[in-house]
Amino acid sequence: MNSTEASEVVVIGAGPAGSTMACALARRGRRVLLVDRGSFPRAKVCGCCLAPTGQRVLQDLGLDAIAGQGIPLTTAVIRSGTRRTRLGFAGSVVLSRTVLDMGLIDAAKDAGAVFKSRTRARVTANDRVILEDLDRPDLGPTTIQSPAIVVADGIGGRALDDRAEFTWKIRRRNRFGVGTVIDPTCDAPPLGELMMIANRTGYLGVVTLEDGQVDLAAALHAGRTRAIGGPARACAILLEQADCPALAAAAREARWHGTPGLTRSRRSVAEGRVLCIGDASGYVEPFTGEGMSWGMLAAVTAAPLVDSLIEGAATTAWNQVHHQLLKARQRRCRAISLAMRFPSLSLAAMSVFNRLPGLGPRLAGLASGHSTAGPERIKPRKPEVIA
Ligand SMILES: Cc1cc2nc3c(=O)[nH]c(=O)nc-3n(C[C@H](O)[C@H](O)[C@H](O)COP(=O)(O)OP(=O)(O)OC[C@H]3O[C@@H](n4cnc5c(N)ncnc54)[C@H](O)[C@@H]3O)c2cc1C
Repeated sequence: MNSTEASEVVVIGAGPAGSTMACALARRGRRVLLVDRGSFPRAKVCGCCLAPTGQRVLQDLGLDAIAGQGIPLTTAVIRSGTRRTRLGFAGSVVLSRTVLDMGLIDAAKDAGAVFKSRTRARVTANDRVILEDLDRPDLGPTTIQSPAIVVADGIGGRALDDRAEFTWKIRRRNRFGVGTVIDPTCDAPPLGELMMIANRTGYLGVVTLEDGQVDLAAALHAGRTRAIGGPARACAILLEQADCPALAAAAREARWHGTPGLTRSRRSVAEGRVLCIGDASGYVEPFTGEGMSWGMLAAVTAAPLVDSLIEGAATTAWNQVHHQLLKARQRRCRAISLAMRFPSLSLAAMSVFNRLPGLGPRLAGLASGHSTAGPERIKPRKPEVIA
């Protein structure tokens, strides 16, 4: 397929959700146009932990080699103030967004999808897609009509701004996300360890990526972050409280990227020819590290519905399927994110649970969406309480 007009489906956004959808549909023989306003690899606020569900989706698509480039996560060290709890954490892998996102885009292209980067898309009231080439504004916008439109433009996506039926419902007292990738420091966590630090301003996850760079991603309370002097300072304080002065100094100097308010849902996720997946269909909070996996799972689940939509069926079934798919996970995520609003209390509870044989891995497994610890079950250690 060479021309954008010939596409049967336009997928807006080439993050994990959009690229997985593009790959799944192209493999079903559909003519797919995948567009993203970014130029890849692009910066992304993310903790880079790929949960077992996301790995299973890759495996089912025969793309296990992508996850194979990641580092298995074995331990989570959770810190708040002077308290510290170490939990066994089997099942997830640490994988940079560069490797994951590029791997999925390449898989979509290999399957026959056309990918256009630096292309911003907007969906009109009458189900047309307006595309703007961000490198060639002189060319003016192109309007295309395709039987199906999949919106996977993430949490900050505005492709559906002209469609009242998809209006966001955004939580008032909300956290927002920030993230950066920095050069290694002496106090960065070792490979395979997730350090999670929490205080009243929010929580920050730190992992060392497969290429040795260090990924920092935080969810912060907006008002408290402002009062402290901004996200860089808020994250530096969290790192100082966790006894990581080199990381704190790097955090102060780093260039941080941000997201809008995190907790949100859409009035509807499917109307007319349009269907939303991934963060574009709603978001709770990142503590459980499942956003990418939810998006990828939604993509492979919705692909047959998009196939039928191309044949003329209605999209609205996606509203129920989506609800069923994510309900239990989002409830768990909400409960954990609520607990993280009281970090000291939660940590004290975790310390107690972690002392009970077998519960440590289950606790971590529950947080990562892995209901039982995998075969490499890690014997729970006694929690280390620093002071
Ligand atoms: C602090 C933090 C930590 C996190 N940690 C983890 C973690 O450890 N594990 C995990 O699984 N998840 C984590 N997440 C969540 C995860 O980052 C997201 O759930 C995931 O990126 C969603 O994928 P997506 O494909 O839906 O959207 P995205 O990855 O956001 O991709 C959307 C794409 O759409 C493009 N786009 C936007 N608007 C347009 C437009 N108009 N036209 C064309 N393209 C457009 C963007 O450029 C972008 O590339 C974290 C999130 C935060 C905030």
